[in-house]
Amino acid sequence: MIALLALACGLAAGSEIRVAVLQLLRPSQLTLHAGQIAIGAERISARDGVIVSADGNRVRSRGYSGEALSSTGPQVTIETGGMRRAYRGSVEIRARGGVLLPIVTIELEQAVAAVVAAEMPGAQKEALRAQAIAARSYYLAGDRHAFGFCDTTHCQFLTAPDASSSAAAKDTERLVLTHAGRVARAMYFRSCSGTTLSAADAGLSSEPYSYFSAICETCRRKPYQWEARLPQAQAERLLREGPSETLRVQLARQFGWNTIASNTYTAFTEGGTVILRGTGHGHGVGLCQRGARGMAESGAGYAAILQHYFQATELSRK
Ligand SMILES: [Zn+2]
Ligand SMILES: [Zn+2]
Repeated sequence: MIALLALACGLAAGSEIRVAVLQLLRPSQLTLHAGQIAIGAERISARDGVIVSADGNRVRSRGYSGEALSSTGPQVTIETGGMRRAYRGSVEIRARGGVLLPIVTIELEQAVAAVVAAEMPGAQKEALRAQAIAARSYYLAGDRHAFGFCDTTHCQFLTAPDASSSAAAKDTERLVLTHAGRVARAMYFRSCSGTTLSAADAGLSSEPYSYFSAICETCRRKPYQWEARLPQAQAERLLREGPSETLRVQLARQFGWNTIASNTYTAFTEGGTVILRGTGHGHGVGLCQRGARGMAESGAGYAAILQHYFQATELSRK
């Protein structure tokens, strides 16, 4: 898979974010193409590609080792596990317990376009724009890790931007959602069960913005339906505690990410098995991507889409 994150310019220098990439692969080795890299006190050329590996908490390359390896940009390409990713920016690679942590520093707008490409492929223009503003707000609400953000579902997925996702970022440049004067970390998810959830409904904390339940016409007409079966011994908490995002994430780690697709379900037991029947896909808080696509197809603009799913927020320029 080849992915080139195209340069999206327009913001002043300094509007950069740090994202740990390729985190789902947990790589212990990768090939890095960059201009010059620094490892320990050494400076070596990585123009033709160098192999970088993790050795416990140290990084090794070309016989050198150090706590971190860094490149100076302007572009880096990382290959590992059959994936090849190119970024306009620089990378710092650290290691933790034999796993490499490549942290790229890229322009915010490049990252926004990359999130839109990953999250709303093929959507109508206004839905792409709404997604771009949500993605930008998410980043500008502040780092979620000591190193910035990750590229898993915990933070935001990224893939190579295409023309329409880059245009959505450019068309909404600097626009963010704010609540009470602060940028709201605009959450979103795949599809709801006809109404979205407030943060409290999903058992999530959400300062400064608490989210509101919104009726979602697209999903109300025909919600995505799912069923899951789990061994009762391990899934007893589902019956005792009822749905919550915390529990869903805990059980996802145990049984696989998509096992419990959403927080809207009924649970019952049958011969030692817990059976869940639910609707929707994702945590259910914030923007429903399926509903946003539906609204855009019915002629709604991005501002109307965002107002619908993020009540009591304002569009502001950052
Ligand atoms: Zn994260
Ligand atoms: Zn929906």
